[in-house]
Amino acid sequence: AAAAADAEDPIIPSVKVDYTKLLINGQFVDAASEKTFPTLDPRTGDVIAHVAEGDAEDVNRAVAAARKAFDEGPWPKMTAYERSRVLFRFADLIEKHNDDLAALETWDNGKPFEQSAKIEIPMLARFFRYYAGYADKIHGLTVPADGQYHVQTLHEPIGVAGQIIPWNFPLLMFAWKVAPALACGNTIVLKTAEQTPLSALYAAQLLHEAGLPPGALNVVSGFGPTAGAAVASHMDIDKVAFTGSTATGKIVLELAAKSNLKTVTLELGGKSPFIVCEDADVDKAVELAHFALFFNQGQCCCAGSRTFVHERVYDEFVEKAKARAARRVVGDPFKGGIEQGPQIDSDQFEKILKYIDYGIKGGATLETGGERFGSKGYYIQPTVFSNVKDDMRIAKDEIFGPVQTVLKYKELDEVIKRANNSRYGLAAGVFTQNIDTANTLTRALRVGSVWINCFDVFDASIPFGGYKMSGNGREKGIYGLKNYLQVKAVVTPLKNP
Ligand code: ADP
Repeated sequence: AAAAADAEDPIIPSVKVDYTKLLINGQFVDAASEKTFPTLDPRTGDVIAHVAEGDAEDVNRAVAAARKAFDEGPWPKMTAYERSRVLFRFADLIEKHNDDLAALETWDNGKPFEQSAKIEIPMLARFFRYYAGYADKIHGLTVPADGQYHVQTLHEPIGVAGQIIPWNFPLLMFAWKVAPALACGNTIVLKTAEQTPLSALYAAQLLHEAGLPPGALNVVSGFGPTAGAAVASHMDIDKVAFTGSTATGKIVLELAAKSNLKTVTLELGGKSPFIVCEDADVDKAVELAHFALFFNQGQCCCAGSRTFVHERVYDEFVEKAKARAARRVVGDPFKGGIEQGPQIDSDQFEKILKYIDYGIKGGATLETGGERFGSKGYYIQPTVFSNVKDDMRIAKDEIFGPVQTVLKYKELDEVIKRANNSRYGLAAGVFTQNIDTANTLTRALRVGSVWINCFDVFDASIPFGGYKMSGNGREKGIYGLKNYLQVKAVVTPLKNP
């Protein structure tokens, strides 16, 4: 990789860490246990701040606040227009605090600051505006039932929503969850990821500054098996939305079933194929496949992590993909021009290195990378494997790191079968100039998103979610509202009997 890691001498961001407590009923409070946990800088492993560690008792307090705010209001009882105005005002505040939010995000997560500041924080504002626009446009139907009845449907908020989010896009996950839930008039208990608690607390504070009443959004930092499990199993939470690993998704679904059968939406893991067809312009295919895998340090549930390349262009592709990865600029994410920062934490760092080892021992060809980058923090060299076979672990499991695996194919039917031969079904990339090929693949792939000659297009209006073990339900777009609404059928005789 091109740049020397500045991990020895990291840039200290100027943002102050003001919010480290739990946010319950509009107040920042300590955990009931008074316990805290450290949140770490992935560039060094050093402590950024100590954060209140929420547990079951804190979740109880948060749920009580959310319940009261739902049952007594004002949030669900405000006019839809008033609710939308709060969300619009919040979007304005996000823009005003863009660089502070971006700095916190990068500090806690390790992603390049330029990406946080120019893409993710603007997207956060965009998401809130998108759903703010829906708040006063949610309504039911008049239904032509048999018989002498007037039948209508009311679209009502579900109640208290529990939301459990991951660390790879802390604020975007905040937006995907919080924006539609609030637009529909629900109240929320949000459990952030233990690796990245800081930016959501800052954002939640701004949301209150924008006029969100106390109790409508409560934020509990803490760990999965304690705070997260308390959310999933709470008897007074009406719905849980989870984004994370497939293994944890199963636990959440089980806890929901065992407690009160709350409805569950899950956005889980993936092993998405990126298919380079024989007619591809190889240079462009290499660049897009590189982005599809390496974006966000490879920490994307939808990463194009199985790069299928047609045999006609395979050798050229591998040479160029290797060169591109070797040129990838790795280093302190606060520095300009950096493409790749550190991985999130030592667990992920170790896991990725273990998978690289599986790749080597399993007989794949290591083209470039394969080791840690620098000597401090959780940086990993951009890594490319060729000669990858479908049954190797690196081709089956989600690695969640900067490791590209290139597989060769010959026929379209063959690559369809192989691409679909996965327990996951989150997304796919297709690279071709041939519209028939694009159409054939689009219909045949059992995945929730197909990106043709593009990848990771995450506009607020585009639904996102998984087939198979990548989850259920769709977030974003008009589909994302469905997760947070109940339908009530109301029947009245046309004439009193
Ligand atoms: P990862 O392995 O990438 O950290 P997880 O699925 O474990 O992904 O984490 C995603 C979110 O789920 C985090 O907020 C985490 O704290 C939470 N979580 C982890 N374990 C549980 C659990 N047993 N019950 C509820 N939430 C959990």
